[in-house]
Amino acid sequence: MDKPTRRARASQTDPEVQRVVTEFWDTFDQPADRYVVEHTPPPTVREAYLEIYGRPLGGASRQFPRPVDKERIRERQGNRCLYCDELIGSLVLRRNEPIELRTAWDHFIPYAYAQRNGHDNWVLACHLCNLIKHAKMFQTVMEAQQFIQARWVEKRIERLDPALQAVLMRERMAAREITP
Ligand SMILES: [Zn+2]
Repeated sequence: MDKPTRRARASQTDPEVQRVVTEFWDTFDQPADRYVVEHTPPPTVREAYLEIYGRPLGGASRQFPRPVDKERIRERQGNRCLYCDELIGSLVLRRNEPIELRTAWDHFIPYAYAQRNGHDNWVLACHLCNLIKHAKMFQTVMEAQQFIQARWVEKRIERLDPALQAVLMRERMAAREITP
């Protein structure tokens, strides 16, 4: 058995802690706006937040990143979605139809959950991954990526071959020039 002093380190593996955290995340599959008012994150979640962001939970002000932060985040991620790694503005197939990936500003720790959204909490995502992630909470970015990419398969969203991508993008650009 782990001693209490090792509880923080044990949070990745301790089944009881895992159960508490999983139940907590499941709650956010329900509408979060009603729930956020009286919600207090459990200690395990506060530990995870502190570990990822190096500061405690608390405070709340912004709905979107400031323009200067948007530029910084876009540059840091090379204008790619954190979860699928596709370029924003590129095309993917959804049920065999091309769809353009649009910008979404995502809280890695969701707002409903963290009750704060300082600029260090923001990541760039495509709108498809953002919809899938919704208000779910993940311990690590890799965990979020694996979850979301599994949903891509279920929702029949597929990456495009780069050559096909180029052809489709040219067609769309041409169509835009013709259609005022
Ligand atoms: Zn994405």
